[in-house]
Amino acid sequence: MSLIVQKYGGTSVGTPERIRNVAKRILETQQAGHQVVAVVSAMSGVTNKLIELAAAVTGEEADPTEREMDVLLSTGEQTTIALTAMCLNSMGSKAVSLTGAQAGITTDGVHTKARISTISPEEVHRLLDDGNIVILAGFQGQTPDGKITTLGRGGSDLTAIAMAAAIDADLCQIYTDVDGVYTCDPRVVKDAQKIDEISYDEMLEMASSGTKVMQSRSVEFAKKFGVVFQVRSSLNNNPGTTVREETMSMESVVIRGVSLEREQAKVTITSVGDQPGTAGKIFGAISDANINVDMIVQNVSVSKCDTTDISFTVHKNDIAKAEAALAPVLSEIGDGVKVEARDGIAKLSVVGIGMKSHSGVAAEMFAALSSAGVNIEMISTSEIKITVTVAEDQIEEAANVVHSAFNLAQ
Ligand code: ADP
Ligand code: ASP
Ligand code: MG
Repeated sequence: MSLIVQKYGGTSVGTPERIRNVAKRILETQQAGHQVVAVVSAMSGVTNKLIELAAAVTGEEADPTEREMDVLLSTGEQTTIALTAMCLNSMGSKAVSLTGAQAGITTDGVHTKARISTISPEEVHRLLDDGNIVILAGFQGQTPDGKITTLGRGGSDLTAIAMAAAIDADLCQIYTDVDGVYTCDPRVVKDAQKIDEISYDEMLEMASSGTKVMQSRSVEFAKKFGVVFQVRSSLNNNPGTTVREETMSMESVVIRGVSLEREQAKVTITSVGDQPGTAGKIFGAISDANINVDMIVQNVSVSKCDTTDISFTVHKNDIAKAEAALAPVLSEIGDGVKVEARDGIAKLSVVGIGMKSHSGVAAEMFAALSSAGVNIEMISTSEIKITVTVAEDQIEEAANVVHSAFNLAQ
């Protein structure tokens, strides 16, 4: 008998029929002789709808308090656990739903992006040992003093991986609406190929650069605790993608995949004094406001010595928050400092651990983009990733030309 954690995403539980399909799959897993913890997301569209409702009652200007946002958002998953457990019980099986708090998931107090601090899985074990299927709400936990928290968008992946680590599961399966992790989003690049095996580091770089099939924090967690997991479809039995520590054979592939991320904005601060401490002040203010910054580019101005321009990317929804966070530090970082923000950009990345030992990848990527008339605005690199920003309306074309330049369809 194995202990299996399965996670079913929003589309997989998006309708009553889909919930019945999921319940059937969970039941078949138990009937094959396994103990099952099934983590479920909110039905597709529900989390977005709840966010819209919050905006509708608070108005454009006032942000809803994040404590209440979490009380609201957690209801999406709470609905699904009850429906899935009910459905399983109607099929004659024993299933019990648990919220994150009931399952012993404790987090820090950063509402809407909380981090899991501990998991006390005694109740999960007790229910499993009693012959139950445990249906666990994804994306949520509670602080030590009992406040409901959520784990950031896509956070049900994290619930599944963290619970798999906490109960030392034999298998962790992430069921979604595609057959696995592809060389690029199959909705954008029609001839993208399913990847059989990918390393944690590659999956992490892809996830953090827009490949939303896995939440990046969940991959970080899996790497840290060595949780091997599969990504596969809830609609068929095709083998999926296995995500694990890198192996020698993985390095022979130079580029594993291409990621894209839309709805980005570029914030530029001009005429920043070129002295120690200025970047620290800027990004300290941004981080205190809990804004995720991604690419950062700084260059000393040749024409105006002693000053530099600093640009970084944020999600376009964070522009106003970033401007507000920067306002109090502007006078401290130079005379005549200005902030300009512009949306309408997207990021395109190529990822592969084989890049460590191959040169010329950047040149090949840039040549492919230029042949399609795509202008590159910002560039950043890591050991296994190259990211550029391009105009958002060219991102699909850019993804396709880069995908074919690296022969990823073969
Ligand atoms: P779930 O609701 O199951 O969590 P998500 O919508 O979060 O599913 O993630 C699945 C989606 O991720 C797919 O429908 C696909 O469009 C998108 N996606 C983006 N990049 C990739 C990729 N490289 N491989 C597979 N899917 C991808
Ligand atoms: N329901 C949450 C979201 O839409 C969590 C998840 O689906 O993983 O982001
Ligand atoms: Mg998801």
